[in-house]
Amino acid sequence: MDVLQQIRYGPARVAGGYTDRILRVDLSAQEITIQELPPDFKTMYVGGRGYALKVIWDGTTRDTRYDSPENILVMSSGPLGNEPGFPGTGKFIVGSISPLTDTFIDSNVGGHFGPTLKRAGFDAIAVSGIAEKDVVIIVDGDAGTITIAAAPAYDDEVDGGALSFGEQLLKDVNGGEHCDKVAAVTAGKGACHARFGIINSLYFDKKRGRIRSKQAGRGGTGTVMRVKRLRGIVARSSLSKANGNNAVDPKGVREAGSQLKRVVWDCDAKQLHLSAWGTTGLSEYMDKFHIFPINNYQYGQHPDSKKIFAEVFLERYFSKKLPDGCYYGCNLACAKGAEDVKLTRGPQAGRKVGIDGPEYETVGAVSCMGIFDPQFVMEYNWYCDEYGLDTISTGVSISFFMECFERGFLTVDDVGCELTFGNIEAADRLLHEIANGEGFGRIVGQGVARGKKWVAETYASKNGTTEAEVTAELNKFGMEVKGLEFSMYISKESLAQQGGYGFALKGPQHDEAWLIFIDQVHKEIPTFEQKALALKWFPLIRTWFNATGLCKLPWIDVRNPEAASTPEPAKNTPSLAHYVNYLNATTGSSKTLQDVLDDSERLYILQKLINVRQGKGTRKSDLIPARAMGPAYFNEYEARAEYYDEWLKEQLGNDTLPARPEERRRLLMEKRAAAYQRLCDVVYEEKGFTADAIPKRETVERFGLLDEQAARLLDEFGV
Ligand code: SF4
Repeated sequence: MDVLQQIRYGPARVAGGYTDRILRVDLSAQEITIQELPPDFKTMYVGGRGYALKVIWDGTTRDTRYDSPENILVMSSGPLGNEPGFPGTGKFIVGSISPLTDTFIDSNVGGHFGPTLKRAGFDAIAVSGIAEKDVVIIVDGDAGTITIAAAPAYDDEVDGGALSFGEQLLKDVNGGEHCDKVAAVTAGKGACHARFGIINSLYFDKKRGRIRSKQAGRGGTGTVMRVKRLRGIVARSSLSKANGNNAVDPKGVREAGSQLKRVVWDCDAKQLHLSAWGTTGLSEYMDKFHIFPINNYQYGQHPDSKKIFAEVFLERYFSKKLPDGCYYGCNLACAKGAEDVKLTRGPQAGRKVGIDGPEYETVGAVSCMGIFDPQFVMEYNWYCDEYGLDTISTGVSISFFMECFERGFLTVDDVGCELTFGNIEAADRLLHEIANGEGFGRIVGQGVARGKKWVAETYASKNGTTEAEVTAELNKFGMEVKGLEFSMYISKESLAQQGGYGFALKGPQHDEAWLIFIDQVHKEIPTFEQKALALKWFPLIRTWFNATGLCKLPWIDVRNPEAASTPEPAKNTPSLAHYVNYLNATTGSSKTLQDVLDDSERLYILQKLINVRQGKGTRKSDLIPARAMGPAYFNEYEARAEYYDEWLKEQLGNDTLPARPEERRRLLMEKRAAAYQRLCDVVYEEKGFTADAIPKRETVERFGLLDEQAARLLDEFGV
């Protein structure tokens, strides 16, 4: 490799989960520096998302955009990542200013990169600047070197693909062979053309004997990476993975880990079957409860859905019934994959590939386009990973334009084909056009928020109407908030999930508040007050998982039987007790669950401050499309008329149900919109915000966040 810059360093020993160092790389100046963190840094910001938030808060301004040289791409595990004795410790966070939302985005991802980076001596890597040509960064804890090198041009790299480039890069760094001491992150050519480029996290799976990948999918962090002309980062360390955190109390770690593993062993096979089916098992539940997205979230159920339920993938594709943990020690092992799948479409048709997935979200993204073909799901999954595109945003963006076409806002002349729901050929064509920045794919690759603007301009100029009128219509079904596309749950029948999507600081991704299951399926938070309180509590505990380097699934997707006898079973506090014990044993702290929630709240408020600074923090930014609240059009109402009429009757009490069905739909939507506004009032108050969703000064002060920048910002808003 052509070395452009290299430093030597002595890797810091991990102690109690931390190295207390951040690796800083400025690609414009080709500068590599090691930032030693003061002791109170981890106390304040924990790790993972917290470290990314602090670096972005201090290092960017309200004028920073995703492609500004000063934008920073941060990757950080957390104190609890890197421990095979406890389930789900391979997660790390990628944070940056997003090309879709123009504010802070973070995306959590599994694999070995976060733990390996930590063993190589760093709690986080923060990359700023823009290189003059494509580069890679290699953090070699064994050799004690950090290198910026020109990105190699590999003979057998497949056309700028994130997976094929990463495979070659990993081999290259490891002397021509694969091993599990190295891990990488890469972004593909799709990230050069679309705003929703992803970062692939690549690791060697000894059991399958191949490189596998997990994805930091949301918000365009891969796009940021390619703007910086960074094609990949490799971390290497031969240090032992066992007790990799050098815990203060290793016995306590083992005990907490074996207790949680026992819960997973005893319960998963009786509950969601994640270790057998992966997350594809969710499709059947979602379809049963009218939550599975069909035709751009118009419907939640379809007779053809069963063609893409879990057993189809299990029988046809998940050929090796292997325990598929995305990091050592995870016995929930939901990271399913398939071997030797022959591609039938696209530029690689005929090639046999290993495919990692599909996850539920990818299946939902395909049904969202009205497609129920499992082979297409697999190929869509592989191409999105190889190109480096978010399967969710790609699917939702194509779905949005399909609906624009079907409702007459676009014509064949505008898009180049019959862009109707269920048209596999059209969806496939658009996928490749998005990745290559060609044809109509150039527009789709900008995402739904910018797509709405383009459609409004195009339609208004041809049809003698105003852009404002068209936009008002598109806002009903353009499924984005703050610029990010919705993830794959229909929230029409769950007020809690409507809030979960609307208030989510990064935009409508369920990892902040996945309340649909406990609200709509289990009906565990039936009252308005319970929903409002859940919208404070769940985002805080979920923030903690994202700050510590942990996967949430062993907690939220495996219900501990002991939870049934607690006041709020949905919180699954008996399992959370194992997490708190694990934290204390690792770091030597003596925290309670409430302490953990307080630590999270500090991070939550900091993220909110960044949103306020970037113009995405007021009440207006939490508005959700009509379709997220109920039947935006009559066809949606008709498909669930009985349920909607029943709901409306309950709301009306003694008042009579209007005779005309369209009038019922209109009235229902009015009541849904009012309920959402009421929810805003109560939840903002609960969170210590003003009615306009700005954190109150005392809230900011309580968490020690009232620095000069925060004080100026609050002054501007008169808070
Ligand atoms: S539950 Fe699944 S996603 Fe989470 S750590 Fe385990 S294998 Fe990875």
